[in-house]
Amino acid sequence: AAKEAGKASWARFEPRMRQDMVNHAMLAGELRAGIARGELRLLYQPIYDLVTGRLHGAEALVRWQHPERGFVSPADFIPVAERTGLIVPLGAWVLREACAQLARWHATYGDRTVESVNVNVAVRQLREVGFVDEVAAVLSETGLRPRNLIIEVTESSVVDGWQVRETLRALHEMGVPLALDDFGTGQSSLSLLRAFPVDVLKLDKSFVDGIAEGADRGRLAVAAAVAQLAEHLQLKAVAEGIENQEQLNRLRDMGYRYGQGFFMSRPVPADDYAALMAADPVRA
Ligand code: C2E
Ligand code: MG
Ligand code: MG
Ligand code: MG
Repeated sequence: AAKEAGKASWARFEPRMRQDMVNHAMLAGELRAGIARGELRLLYQPIYDLVTGRLHGAEALVRWQHPERGFVSPADFIPVAERTGLIVPLGAWVLREACAQLARWHATYGDRTVESVNVNVAVRQLREVGFVDEVAAVLSETGLRPRNLIIEVTESSVVDGWQVRETLRALHEMGVPLALDDFGTGQSSLSLLRAFPVDVLKLDKSFVDGIAEGADRGRLAVAAAVAQLAEHLQLKAVAEGIENQEQLNRLRDMGYRYGQGFFMSRPVPADDYAALMAADPVRA
């Protein structure tokens, strides 16, 4: 009977699966070509100090401008890139480009305006044997110090296995800060967090959304607890996806020193980000 059921569900899902596989293979092929043709761009979303209101940093976010399909969201192509391994060359490009951009900004505006850039790194990249060397090479080529690059990983990367953990430990020892992205949505245990060299917690947008609605006590409680956790562990707390003044105020009052979101700015091209830096008074 189980076999019958298995067969039946296979039959039911097959056309859909085949379609997905075709789309997947097509997208993977086009992505490979797109990378080669230079269709990827980086945008930078400003990260603000919620207490002083000043520009604090930037998160590099990749964009793919396909000649016919138009804009393809990273939510669509990053998972494909991860499954096919294309994330490795793609991620290498992102890392190099973001660091080169920050070095250019430092040359023009000094490193006191914006010290660091955040780069998202997929677990697939962390499993590559040469990843630590790649980071070291990019830092030395661009003349950046390790603390100028903040690597964002999701909680699930940290629980992936000892190899990935060793890689993250090596990066941390090198002096590269680690941020746990989408924090609160994963399954990492609090003891792991204590044992692990994390520097920044980024509260996931879903908890920030709960704040505007006001009624969601559960998500509000998580947001507050994460801020407390960051304070006790002496980690930087960043809230992402802030869309209105009320969220900003409440998160700041909870203890989020830093934040990013459409309320302050969407991700913008490098030149627009530079204009924000130019307008921001240099820190004393
Ligand atoms: P993420 O790292 O959590 O990045 C934050 C996402 O939230 C970005 O979406 C950003 O545009 C969006 N966001 C920021 N503020 C707001 C807001 O106020 N409202 C709303 N609705 N959204 C906001 P984006 O750029 O589409 O990227 C989606 C995800 O794709 C990223 O989530 C990250 O996981 C992945 N990604 C993007 N670029 C890269 C990359 O270079 N490498 C890797 N491995 N993943 C990347
Ligand atoms: Mg991120
Ligand atoms: Mg995030
Ligand atoms: Mg996210």
